[in-house]
Amino acid sequence: MKKTAFSAMRPTGKLHLGHLIGALNNWVSLQDQYKCIFAVADWHAFMGEYEHGKEIQPNIHDMVLDWLACGIDPDQSIIFIQSQVPEHLELQMVLSCITPLGWLERNPTYKEQLREVTSRDLQTYGFLGYPVLQAADILLYKAQAVPIGEDQLPHLELTREIARRFNHLYKTDILPDCNALLTPTPRLLGIDGRKMSKSYQNAINLSDPPDVIRKKVSIMFTDPARIKLADPGHPDVCNVYSYYQIFAPQDTKAVYDWCSNAKKGCTDCKSILADRIIKFLEPLQERRQKFARDEKRIKDIIKEGQQKAQAIARETLAQVKEVIF
Ligand code: SF4
Repeated sequence: MKKTAFSAMRPTGKLHLGHLIGALNNWVSLQDQYKCIFAVADWHAFMGEYEHGKEIQPNIHDMVLDWLACGIDPDQSIIFIQSQVPEHLELQMVLSCITPLGWLERNPTYKEQLREVTSRDLQTYGFLGYPVLQAADILLYKAQAVPIGEDQLPHLELTREIARRFNHLYKTDILPDCNALLTPTPRLLGIDGRKMSKSYQNAINLSDPPDVIRKKVSIMFTDPARIKLADPGHPDVCNVYSYYQIFAPQDTKAVYDWCSNAKKGCTDCKSILADRIIKFLEPLQERRQKFARDEKRIKDIIKEGQQKAQAIARETLAQVKEVIF
């Protein structure tokens, strides 16, 4: 029997190369080894964007399209939308009751976001309870494995603590221990050299057409020491070179040579990189367009995912209610 792996993404905007390299490629490869459950976490999106709830809906559709285009296979894995399985909120309610306030207030991500995010009001009861909903998401499917990045480790630890507290309080073992699946992924920065993010507007989206990709690549930050064509560059400190390493590894030797020996300028170097990224994304974008033309298939995939997810969620919730009442 395959172990269950659970992961989710918030539909807060278009998916970009960072999502592909940092998570989706990993999700695709996990499908053979695990029974994978992937949630479009629209309640999580709502917690941070509650004033713009209407904008979440189109993002959900785009996210499912991107997942399918990247190779998430609905015949192998469950793809569903969190708000279509209300058991998530019910289990969150139960877990909220047993989670000490201090555990949430101490959460480093919560404190960091309150400090850093100034464009949205995160001083809400819902946002404080964000990790409890995450715990409910994972525990509802009794996932043993959760593919996450290192920055999310404190949240997963909280899920484990909540599960242990629940099992201890009700003398049961129905909520299993879950482990992080930490897969090393290459670091991909945005075109301005900062973390790639929708909020920084520095991302190359998976669905960007070729002209947009060319434009974005043309303004990428490069080695600041290379001012004139005759100046030898330092590929190891250039963001463009790190993109070559990921999207065109076959070219890295040549790039290293033309850069460090000042044989080619940055404009040419970026123009070739844009070609490589366009080529890299071509099959993905073709698959995306194919799925986009078949609206009924998308609806069926989402409906089927909801039914499969809900069947598991109902069973777990019934077990939870049996031990608590
Ligand atoms: Fe970067 Fe390419 Fe310019 Fe070298 S030639 S600094 S790798 S953009």
